Amino acid sequence: MNVLVINAGSSSLKYQLMDPDTGVVLAKGLCERIGLDGKFTYKPQIEGKETLKAVDVAMPTHSEAIAAVLGALVDEKNGVIGSMKEIQAVGHRVVHGGEAFNKSVVITEEVMKAVEDCIPLAPLHNPANITGIRACEKAMPGVPMAAVFDTAFHQTMPAKAFTYALPYDYYKTDKVRRYGFHGTSHMYVSARAAEMLDKPASELKIITCHLGNGSSVTAVDGGKSVDTSMGFTPVAGLPMGTRVGDIDAGILQYLMNKYKLGIDEMLDILNKKSGVMGVSGVSSDFRDLEEAAEKGNQQAALAIDMFNYGVKKLIGAYAAAMGGVDAIVFTAGVGENSAEQRLEIGSNLEFMGVKMDAEANKCRGKEQVISAADSQVKVLLIPTDEELMIARDTAALCK
Ligand code: ADP
Repeated sequence: MNVLVINAGSSSLKYQLMDPDTGVVLAKGLCERIGLDGKFTYKPQIEGKETLKAVDVAMPTHSEAIAAVLGALVDEKNGVIGSMKEIQAVGHRVVHGGEAFNKSVVITEEVMKAVEDCIPLAPLHNPANITGIRACEKAMPGVPMAAVFDTAFHQTMPAKAFTYALPYDYYKTDKVRRYGFHGTSHMYVSARAAEMLDKPASELKIITCHLGNGSSVTAVDGGKSVDTSMGFTPVAGLPMGTRVGDIDAGILQYLMNKYKLGIDEMLDILNKKSGVMGVSGVSSDFRDLEEAAEKGNQQAALAIDMFNYGVKKLIGAYAAAMGGVDAIVFTAGVGENSAEQRLEIGSNLEFMGVKMDAEANKCRGKEQVISAADSQVKVLLIPTDEELMIARDTAALCK
């Protein structure tokens, strides 16, 4: 079976064609600058087939982007399948499922209505996801499709973890609550951790650290998310590439009054100009920060320190919340690649049974136990694979 995995953004669309049973990827790529000048990248994973890199393709809408993807996949010379009939299902990443979805679902008109109802909760993301789904429906009529939500995995959080201490009506009437994001990734790596430890997920307490450009940490107890650091929106929790993370709400009033900022300008600062970018003044990319810190840039060093400290505090908090922890997992761009940051985060936690193995930790991008043999808590590096998770869910629903 082949599943086409689609992750549609407002002006971009990532895709992967894969066999969910074997995990073998046939082709993947990216459509960028949709609605602008249209750049198309196609990377067939079969030897002898040519890669296309950011070539000009007119993509006024997502429909042309999907057409370009399908055209490349069945292309006589560089295609990876004989015809569109070899795509048995399509899996769509959808950012916000609100309280309507606690798992992946087959896409029907009723589902589309519920995803539309979630637009106020994710005004930038859900409309783009919907556009991607509609474009696929048009291009591939009759092919079953599934929606896989970033929020679904966190729907198991108890009320004490997801409720904000606002007047309760804001939850009842307006659905203001912690939703959490990166759910597909937290779900994938926590399930893999259980497999690596050869124990049923139901018997494990795991803290998953998805540390990338956007970052979140999740407490997974018995296979279920019981708390997570992102909130009503992805701007909450850790300081990130450009997002501020948790902040005293009083600061907004102070800065908005002082600098005569509107709420949109303020939110733009909190989402796009803050985080490690804001603190360092150098970059949102941790590689640049490490380089700058090595050259003596103290703000870059502070930004890295703040980030690592934030992750460490969440690990302590979630261990307390679960009454213990069996495993800590590092994943995503920073978690998979930065040995230094993993070591910093995992060090000085011997009091709670965490003992890192500095040598084993010197690795990147592959599954590996990075705690010492006598560490009570296992620390694992597990590359995330949201596409595989989406493809598997889609296959299970659409078979
Ligand atoms: P996204 O949240 O956009 O999916 P990723 O999970 O791909 O992001 O993470 C991207 C981030 O990973 C980059 O911004 C960079 O900071 C970080 N990163 C990638 N490689 C390294 C590395 N070798 N060392 C430190 N950080 C890295």
